[in-house]
Amino acid sequence: MNLKFNNTTKKYKSKIALNSFSAELSEGIYALLGPNGAGKSTLMNILAGLLKPSEGDISLDGRDTVKMGREFRDILGYLPQEPGFYPAFSGLELMEYFSELKNVRNPESRIKELLEFVNLTEEAKRKYKEYSGGMKRRLGIAISLLNDPKILILDEPTAGLDPKERMRFRNIISRLGSEKIVIIATHIVSDVETVADKIIFLKSGSVVGFGTMSEVLKIAEGKVWEIKTAQSDADNYALEHFNSNVIKRDNDVILHIVSDEKPFSDAVAQAPLLEDVYMYLFSEKSEKSEPQ
Ligand code: ADP
Repeated sequence: MNLKFNNTTKKYKSKIALNSFSAELSEGIYALLGPNGAGKSTLMNILAGLLKPSEGDISLDGRDTVKMGREFRDILGYLPQEPGFYPAFSGLELMEYFSELKNVRNPESRIKELLEFVNLTEEAKRKYKEYSGGMKRRLGIAISLLNDPKILILDEPTAGLDPKERMRFRNIISRLGSEKIVIIATHIVSDVETVADKIIFLKSGSVVGFGTMSEVLKIAEGKVWEIKTAQSDADNYALEHFNSNVIKRDNDVILHIVSDEKPFSDAVAQAPLLEDVYMYLFSEKSEKSEPQ
C-alpha cells in the first residue's frame, strides 16, 4: 500500500491548522506526535474524510481517497477521541450494532475473535457505561477493527488510562500485524516509543521530524546532558529552564538537560531518548523563536 499525502493543508480564516503536509506511508505503525493544537486531529479527520482539506489531497495506491468514497471508507477504521457509543448498550450489543452498520460478513465469529483479541470476552455483556477507561478504549479498538481495515486511525487512544491499561494497549497495537497502516495520534511519548515503526512530529501544523526511531533520535544527538548536583541547585535550575528535569538515581540527584549548548563545563553528554527529542522540538524556547 502507498498512502500519499500531497501538500494536505487546512486553513481556518487566518489560522493554518495543517500546513502542506506531505508524506508517503506504507504498511507499519506510525506515531503522530505533537502537543495539543499541533494539527493531529485535523490530519486524522481529513484522512477519515470527515474534514475537507483547503488544499492538497490524499491518494491510496494512486487513487484519490475522496473519489474512492465508500470503497475507501470500507478499508478504514477510525477510533476518534470521543467515540460517543451508546452508554446503555453492552460491549457485545455495540459490536453487533457496528457490525451491521459496517456490513461485516460472519459477524458472530468476527465479534468473538475481536473480543478475545482485546481481552473483553468476560465483560462483553456488561454495559458500556460501567466499563473502565481502559475497557472502553479496548472496545473502541475492537469496533474499529470489525471491518478488518487496511488503514487504522487511533486518535489519542490512551487518554485517561492507567499504566497497566497503557501496557495492555501497547500489546494490542504491537500485535496488529504488518499488513495495515496504523496511525496513532498522541502527545504521550511513552505510549508509542516501543511500538511505532516510524514517528512523525507535528508542530503548529508542520512536520518537524519524520523517520524511524534511530533517525528521529538524531534530532537531539549532542543536545542531551546530565550533571550530578545538589537537590536545591537542581530544583532552581529546573524551575528556570523548561528543558530540564530532576531525576533521582540511587542517592544522587541528577539534572537532565536538553540544550544546544553544553550547560555546565562538567555536564556529561547522553544518548537521546524519544522524550528528549520531544522536549527539544517542543520546548518553550523553540516555541518562542518560531515566526508567528
Ligand atoms: P491536535 O489534535 O494536535 O490537538 P487540532 O488538529 O485539533 O490539534 O488543531 C490544530 C489547530 O487548528 C489548533 O490551533 C486549533 O485551535 C485549530 N482548529 C481546529 N479546529 C478548528 C476550527 N473548527 N476552527 C478554527 N480553528 C480550529
